[in-house]
Amino acid sequence: MDNCEIKVILSKRGKELANVGTFKYRFIGSIKKGELLKWRCTKNNCTAMIYSGPDKNIVIKSSGQHKHKGNSPNKLERQVLRENCKRRAEESLSTQPLKLIRSELLNKQSSIVHKDLKTLPNLL
Ligand SMILES: [Zn+2]
Repeated sequence: MDNCEIKVILSKRGKELANVGTFKYRFIGSIKKGELLKWRCTKNNCTAMIYSGPDKNIVIKSSGQHKHKGNSPNKLERQVLRENCKRRAEESLSTQPLKLIRSELLNKQSSIVHKDLKTLPNLL
């Protein structure tokens, strides 16, 4: 897990989550005067942890083992997409949400098929 790339995503509550591979971690706190940020697996009872630098770019070190399977990449991609859409919607309220989602999909060259649009929550 060390040196893996971290992708910072937003949870449903707007909290930052560190996405590494198929696992997600929530921010616990910083140690060494902010030099290292500590993240714990979002799965209840899982003690796997990672440490990143303040830039939240890569995993500097990790501890513990996951005792469960990771999320499917598709699910994660959908969460990222949803949060990106939401943020974009807040920024430009005049744009039609559906148009927004379509452009988001086009931008990402996403593998998510068109029918999945129905599963996205109402944006407004
Ligand atoms: Zn875990």
